[in-house]
Amino acid sequence: MTQAADVVVIGGGQSGLAAGYHLRRLGLDFVILDAQPMPGGAWQHTWDSLHLFSPAAYSSLPGRLMPAQPGETYPDAGHVVDYLADYEKRYDLPVQHGIRVAAVHRDGDRLLADADSGAWRARAVISATGTWSRPFLPAVPGRGVFTGRQLHTVNYRRPADFAGQRVIVVGGGNSGAQIAADLALAGDIDVTWATQRPPRFLADDIDGRVLFDVATARRRALDAGADDTGGVASLGDIVAVPPVRAARDAGLLHTKPMFVRLTTTGVEWADGTRAETDAIVWCTGFRPALALLAPLGLRGPRGHVPTVGTRAVAEPRLHLLGYGDWTGPASATLIGVGRPARDAARDIARQLSN
Ligand code: FAD
Repeated sequence: MTQAADVVVIGGGQSGLAAGYHLRRLGLDFVILDAQPMPGGAWQHTWDSLHLFSPAAYSSLPGRLMPAQPGETYPDAGHVVDYLADYEKRYDLPVQHGIRVAAVHRDGDRLLADADSGAWRARAVISATGTWSRPFLPAVPGRGVFTGRQLHTVNYRRPADFAGQRVIVVGGGNSGAQIAADLALAGDIDVTWATQRPPRFLADDIDGRVLFDVATARRRALDAGADDTGGVASLGDIVAVPPVRAARDAGLLHTKPMFVRLTTTGVEWADGTRAETDAIVWCTGFRPALALLAPLGLRGPRGHVPTVGTRAVAEPRLHLLGYGDWTGPASATLIGVGRPARDAARDIARQLSN
């Protein structure tokens, strides 16, 4: 059976909810289809010790401040899940959970979202599918021959799963630093942290608040025609959240330049020496989950869809939300997604009124 709504939002994580908040305010007819059976998007699946890199008040969606988590300056992922579940209820957002959209097609003057529960015809679609379901693994020689355990950030849960083992953590970003610290602080795990270039820690007093301010200032400067300051990338890569700082200061974060290949039982470093290891945790990032948009033929460089703001250049009925700076400055953060969500909803309201 085919159903209809003016706007179909695909994905009910923070981005889809922020879009819903603004669509609701504008009085539009919409539905949010979310593959997860429960509210919370990707936050339901992170490792146990993950904490936000900003305090609660700086991690809020439009309309509702995230309450502080008792005893924690930086809330944990469970607190974010509770906040998103409450947000969905509070604004009575029409989220249908457990519904996956396989593809979006053109269908005359409508877009058709092909969901596993049946198709939805829409005048506009917002794709807010996140990146968590598309972990990226680099092509390193020998990845297929290593007989130990290999997992990605998305599969890592807790140090107890590696008790007494040798583990190599790969990746010089925040996930790599936090997982290396999590394992190292356990005390009974031999952790090596392999990065392509030496890890660049942000100053200890810089957290997500500053990153958001810098990203916003950069956007404003670029919009005003000023030179690109490099934004947050010029400050460093890794937020020194408390566990990372603790592990670093205790001398527990042993970094090495990236290995050149895997062997059956470990890795080979650039100088030809080898190390045995039980497990490799690939903290090597994500790609936007956009396979469902393939029938629209919009794919541009680096797997992104060319956009103006959030609107797809070659398909003006489609908006992309929450994937990173290319869909709005800091849009892949809790605090940053509100503004592009508002702009997308306004743009759609204008389009529908024509
Ligand atoms: P998601 O949370 O991934 O939600 C997307 C939803 O869409 C999911 O429910 C998914 O199941 C659903 N979906 C996907 N495909 C389909 C489909 N085809 N059909 C239907 N539904 C679909 N941000 C911060 O602000 N502060 C932080 O401290 C912070 N820490 C982070 C730490 C890590 C390790 C990571 C990876 C990210 C972090 N982020 C942080 C960034 C960002 O806030 C999160 O990645 C956030 O989950 C992105 O929200 P989203 O709604 O865009 O995507």
